[in-house]
Amino acid sequence: MNDYQYGTQGQQMQQPPQQQQQAPVVNTPEQQRRVRAANAGKRFCRNCGGEIQAGASVCIHCKAVLNPVAIRRAQEIVMDRQAKADRAMLRKCFFFPKRGMALYKANIERRPQVAEPCKKAATAGKIFRGVLMAGTVLAILVIMRYGSFLF
Ligand SMILES: [Zn+2]
Repeated sequence: MNDYQYGTQGQQMQQPPQQQQQAPVVNTPEQQRRVRAANAGKRFCRNCGGEIQAGASVCIHCKAVLNPVAIRRAQEIVMDRQAKADRAMLRKCFFFPKRGMALYKANIERRPQVAEPCKKAATAGKIFRGVLMAGTVLAILVIMRYGSFLF
């Protein structure tokens, strides 16, 4: 048993020098094919060469940024979630309902928590304008009908 193991180890010990001697012809088509097969579907870091997951945006070995577009997209998603319609924005929506509705349309898909308050403020602004307009027209009519003494 022991002799056999030693014998096997001895053979294995002798193999590395042989592989080193073969090193100059490492790029035979057969070896290239074998390397490609072994690495099929694997991704490697361009910075350190370590194996990484497909689609990874940061190398787990050296922390190199692999996919700036994916990172920017992730940051955008976080910013979208954190975005809020502040008081100044809603005031603008109220006094300029058209701009409020434009803001609603621009934000409804990615930032619904911003879009909905904009729509509310724009709607309130529209109603407020309508009431103001109706009140003004009514006031003019009343003055024309009953207020001739004013002029
Ligand atoms: Zn790396």
